[in-house]
Amino acid sequence: MNTQIDNLLQENRRFAPTEEFAKNSVVTSSLYEDAAADRLEFWAKQARDLVSWETPFTRTLDWSNPPFAKWFDDGTLNVAYNCLDRHVEAGLGDRVAIYWEGEPGDSRTITYAELTDEVKRTANVLAGFGIGKGDRVAIYLPMIPEAVISMLAVARLGAIHSVVFGGYSSDSLRSRIDDAEAKVVITADGAWRKGKVSSLKPAVDAALAGKDGDTQGTVEHVLVVKRGENEVDWSEGRDIWWHDVVPAASADHTPEAFEAENPLFILYTSGTTGKPKGILHTSGGYLTQAAFTHKSVFDLHADTDVFWCTADIGWVTGHSYVVYGPLANGATQVMYEGTPDSPHPGRWWEIIEKYKVSIFYTAPTAIRSFMKVGRQVPQEFDLSSLRVLGSVGEPINPEAWMWYRKVIGGDKTPIVDTWWQTETGAIMVSALPGVTETKPGSAQVAIPGISVNVLDDKGNAVPNGGGGLLVVDEPWPAMLRGVWGDPERYKETYWEKFGDKYFAGDGARLDEDGDVWLLGRVDDVMNVSGHRISTAEVESALVANEMVAESAVVGASDETTGQAVVAFVIIKQSHLDQAEKIADITSSLRSWVGQQIGPIARPREVFIVNELPKTRSGKIMRRLLRDLAEGREVGDTSTLADTMVMKVITDQVQK
Ligand code: ATP
Ligand code: MG
Repeated sequence: MNTQIDNLLQENRRFAPTEEFAKNSVVTSSLYEDAAADRLEFWAKQARDLVSWETPFTRTLDWSNPPFAKWFDDGTLNVAYNCLDRHVEAGLGDRVAIYWEGEPGDSRTITYAELTDEVKRTANVLAGFGIGKGDRVAIYLPMIPEAVISMLAVARLGAIHSVVFGGYSSDSLRSRIDDAEAKVVITADGAWRKGKVSSLKPAVDAALAGKDGDTQGTVEHVLVVKRGENEVDWSEGRDIWWHDVVPAASADHTPEAFEAENPLFILYTSGTTGKPKGILHTSGGYLTQAAFTHKSVFDLHADTDVFWCTADIGWVTGHSYVVYGPLANGATQVMYEGTPDSPHPGRWWEIIEKYKVSIFYTAPTAIRSFMKVGRQVPQEFDLSSLRVLGSVGEPINPEAWMWYRKVIGGDKTPIVDTWWQTETGAIMVSALPGVTETKPGSAQVAIPGISVNVLDDKGNAVPNGGGGLLVVDEPWPAMLRGVWGDPERYKETYWEKFGDKYFAGDGARLDEDGDVWLLGRVDDVMNVSGHRISTAEVESALVANEMVAESAVVGASDETTGQAVVAFVIIKQSHLDQAEKIADITSSLRSWVGQQIGPIARPREVFIVNELPKTRSGKIMRRLLRDLAEGREVGDTSTLADTMVMKVITDQVQK
């Protein structure tokens, strides 16, 4: 079988860091040399420099039983101590840890000293519920400070958190509670979203009522934060208000040290391509790589920067770059409860102006939705504090990258496009903003200490200019330690294909400089007349057309070509108003793609739609569009952000 992925898109723009940025950068290119000279020693040094150990480790990596890695395994530490107490002990207690902004406009400023006290109190409450090392706690909370406090309180006790995104249904919550056998659930009455209070507690009640209405499974207690002030049902004995117990608890709590491989959290993947997997992460290696990447990829100057990662804590990005990375580094950050457009479309830019955010990290889906509305919205705000912009979650189309740099970054900020996964725990491939000459649309190079490659199906490295499957060559500190309760699935999914190399499931190509360009999921690659074409490249070509706001492309079976390209596009309102006939738009987009990247990629059909099916982290679920394009019944939609959206799209397509 031919697994080479054809390489269609040309992109020649380049942006070098300014001299001044490079001069003040926290890291230099010597990091790559240090890591190349002795990779394990490089990581051992990061672990010693960035993390405080109760018992220093003497072993860096134990890979004697692959694919089960152990990092720093004879060392002990407390993860929460590393994120809190040690900063207070170092005299930074008054530094702001979190500027929290509620959707209706209320706000809270929390220093490291205050955050440390809150976590100690909460840890005492959880210990009172019988939570200790190895126990699982499910966290089903909105973006409020108690989410961070809860995660750290669980970590402080050596217990394991499983954060379930607050938008998931009671069924999804129940299956995650059951899979992990959680003893406690932490939730809220409700939270602000899109100008209204949406309730959370009823989903917990429904989840714990179980299918037969008579069992709460393994859960003994539900701790409830009051945020929405909405009415909730109450189960006496089981349910406890946060405000009744946490403020009254003692703020004395001595952190116990746990071994580096003590599990820290379970997090379920988003299910874009299959049934969600409970990804298991442990303590020392994870914290080391989260802290190292947060510092080096974002050029963090902890004493002056204000960092904002917009990810929900329900995703891995929220774990590594809202909680563990920034707090281990003693950074000051912004946390926002609501949606980007409430109560007005400039809300995010207003927050950047208000807190003088200097480092901003978000997803391409958000950038494209701002592009759709237009640059006049961000232009009303002072965004001059920004100096580094980051992207994560999907390939970023070159046109979206350029817009991000010009409109949000004032044509001066470096952009780091960071490739990683729930499984990798932390950033793996990214430019370093003071070092790398960036290329719009490319994630570029493995970070120092990480080794990635692009292989064909037989495991041979593809030459520069070629495309294939992205792998990680060597074990890395923040790597997943397994799939919760299912070691076979761990081996099968990630290690069966290439034996000693981690198979990420993503397609990628290498350009002539050896830089990495992500091409989307291998499962989504299209095969047209024997040419393997990535969805990412055709989508980028479509978005480069001035009429198109967003697009999703799938390969649908075709009698003559095997598969044919089928595109779903959202047209900018201004162009829809002008268009004489929809047929003119679709035929001009078909020829546009033909001109941009070649006749082989020319879509057989282009459908104009108002929405695309996305997961709650903003990823397009192409498998559902493929079902539609091939005339099948649409598959499982339970992890879609909006489960009605497929019906709307189906109606539009069948019209
Ligand atoms: P599931 O595995 O259940 O489908 P998921 O993979 O969507 O869930 P995540 O771990 O959140 O869950 O997403 C990781 C994936 O996101 C990567 O495998 C890749 O496809 C995509 N991704 C993340 N960052 C980037 C990036 N910078 N460029 C391209 N793709 C990215
Ligand atoms: Mg995945």
